[in-house]
Amino acid sequence: MSNRLQTDQIQELDAQHHLHPFSNHQSLRANGPRVIVRGEGAYIFDSEGNRILDGMAGLWTTNVGYGNKELADAAHAQMIELPFYNTFFRTTHPPVVALSRKLAELAPANINRVFYGSSGSESNDTAIRLARHYWVLMGEPKRRIIISRRNAYHGSTIASGSMGGMTHVHHHSYPLYEGFRHVMDPYWYGESFAGETPEAFGLRAAHAFEEEILRCGPENVAAIAAEPVQGAGGVKIAPDTYWPEVQKIVDKYGILLLADEVITGFGRLGRWFASEYYNIRPDLITFAKAATSGYIPLSGVLVGDKIVDALMEHDDDFNHGFTFSGHPVACAVALKNIEIMERDRLVPRVSEETGPALARMLARFKDHPLVGEVRSVGLMGAIELVADKKTRRRFADPGRVGLICRDHFFREGFIMRAVFDTMVCAPPLIWTGPQFEEASAVIQKALDLTLADVKGEITA
Ligand code: PMP
Repeated sequence: MSNRLQTDQIQELDAQHHLHPFSNHQSLRANGPRVIVRGEGAYIFDSEGNRILDGMAGLWTTNVGYGNKELADAAHAQMIELPFYNTFFRTTHPPVVALSRKLAELAPANINRVFYGSSGSESNDTAIRLARHYWVLMGEPKRRIIISRRNAYHGSTIASGSMGGMTHVHHHSYPLYEGFRHVMDPYWYGESFAGETPEAFGLRAAHAFEEEILRCGPENVAAIAAEPVQGAGGVKIAPDTYWPEVQKIVDKYGILLLADEVITGFGRLGRWFASEYYNIRPDLITFAKAATSGYIPLSGVLVGDKIVDALMEHDDDFNHGFTFSGHPVACAVALKNIEIMERDRLVPRVSEETGPALARMLARFKDHPLVGEVRSVGLMGAIELVADKKTRRRFADPGRVGLICRDHFFREGFIMRAVFDTMVCAPPLIWTGPQFEEASAVIQKALDLTLADVKGEITA
């Protein structure tokens, strides 16, 4: 069967039977999805035989790259030994114990326990319930409000979707679940006043939390929740003044801090957890994605001693959990994934080599006529496309130019994601010089092609 025929058939069956996440089904039907059939190292391959450099690590996920046989072998061995058993009814198993011990070693010092799920959304729902349960146990049941940030992405379940701050996720399917408030995100390029320094802006953005705490009444607030770096919101990197000030506010009001490390966990900023990079002390850290490099679903919440102590000291059930909490195969793969990352020094390499290489690569494009700002931290970065560099004027119809650019990347064999008109990347941690050079050449070409497409709309 020719490639084209095979592709047509897969696309047709997909159109008939598959509902995709986060999609406009009408335009998906009209254009058809690209069929990805294989992955190897830093590259994926589509059904037409095209090799594509994956600048998004799947979806912030495949940190050790594709086609890793060691991970497949670990899954195979565990499936033969014990493919599944639950951890509900006074049972446990070796892989979940070994992984928990390892995560306690990698996590910040005040964290020694793990609660598991299978997705980032589940881990955030778990953290929300743990935070509220904690305050009930502490005799302060009124503390239910969780303050997060606009543009945050925390998941798609009703609670995690409500904790997230994306209006397009909120508005179409449900009213917000109760008890969530949202404050500004620390997005200097987009939200600072004229002449406001990043430092001053970082403090202002942090104080938005305090203002909201006071508006709600501190006695009603359970926690602040935030991604150390907003990922799906467009790789928004807080100025240096932001996190120390947020931590001060958390300490001042004695509330909990929930760090959503679903993207930043497992090495993306050159530390196992970004909480360490930013020197914050969360009581709850949620993780998913790269815990297994995406080879099998696994998520969890790293739970601080303060909360665990409260659970231990009270004769009260925490009635929450998932059939697949601590799935043995997922735990075995996560353990092997961590072993590989440690052996190959993938995490320190982000600080020493790959992160600086990404920053250098992006810096090459800051003078391009379409580019308002480039930014990166560790191995996540962004290129903002604007209609006017001087005034930071956006293009009409946000997202249109981002998609044009994304399609040029795709056609040139490279993946970056468009968040409206911001092009974001988060390569796997295994990239070396040749991948950065390849990406750089494609970005140059794709930006030039995009510029040609929108030439009439920009102020040079
Ligand atoms: N939190 C963050 C920061 C995320 O980026 C995501 C997913 N992109 C989630 C939570 C939700 O994870 P999942 O899609 O696995 O439910």
